[in-house]
Amino acid sequence: MKWPTFSLPEPEPGWVWLTGAGPGDPGLLTLHALNGIRNADVIVHDTLVSNEILSLAAAGCEIIHAGKRGGKPSPRQPDISARLVSLARAKRRVIRLKGGDPFVFGRGGEEALALVAAGVPFRIVPGISAGIGGLAHAGIPLTHRDVNSVVTFLTGHGASGDVPDDINWPALAASSPVLVIYMALKQLAVIQARLLAAGRSPDEPVAIVSKATRAEEIVLETDLGSCVDDMLAETIEPPAIVVVGEIVRLRAGLDWVGAMAGRSLLPDPPGTRSFRRAG
Ligand code: SAH
Repeated sequence: MKWPTFSLPEPEPGWVWLTGAGPGDPGLLTLHALNGIRNADVIVHDTLVSNEILSLAAAGCEIIHAGKRGGKPSPRQPDISARLVSLARAKRRVIRLKGGDPFVFGRGGEEALALVAAGVPFRIVPGISAGIGGLAHAGIPLTHRDVNSVVTFLTGHGASGDVPDDINWPALAASSPVLVIYMALKQLAVIQARLLAAGRSPDEPVAIVSKATRAEEIVLETDLGSCVDDMLAETIEPPAIVVVGEIVRLRAGLDWVGAMAGRSLLPDPPGTRSFRRAG
């Protein structure tokens, strides 16, 4: 690969780059992320960061795993932040690598504020979030002019592990035709019940995208009424994104990965006419 002629910033000793690694496919790293990974002295990464991406690090780079592993509890957030501070104070070039985008349901904001409090200089390198790029990869557009002008991102998992208690389900159900739900698998039955109780139709399409952009990517197309049963029957594994909304029907036309394996794509997917605006 020819390296670009324009200059990219290099990680400097004593700095932390809070960096998004994207949803898994190394091809979806940004140039800043790649440059940081290749020039880091130490990489502190989450479980979601793929081995292929970590293999891009230089030979002498120290790799520290700061996530859940083998059923052991995950390191406490204050401990991770303290570690970043002490590595930076030791004048290392530190890349803090997080799945997707560091500021989307990833506690990147907390880590950055801890760096600010400690006076450690840092750069924020955005990444492709699973709920945007992962769905695009699976052939599901988040918006379509004829379908929706609103998308809502939510997490199925609050600090306690339960569905967050600050979600106004009736307001959400009434105002957002497309819902993109991170960390939804464990609480899918609760989410399903809340949306149905708030008036969403059991026939509304739902897709569950597991391991988006990786070789093991699986996309389950189902509906709101059947999604929990189908998820269990298909043994869908985390990480997975759940998307609720008519937009999912467009996948019949846009599943380009499926097309490579022989699926024929429909330029006018069934069901989509019903949500086209008149005129
Ligand atoms: N910062 C990350 C999200 C971290 S929360 C981002 O921007 O993508 C962790 C959740 O992200 C997972 O439970 C899952 O819902 C989602 N996720 C991350 N990577 C994924 C992938 N490759 N495929 C599907 N979902 C993914």
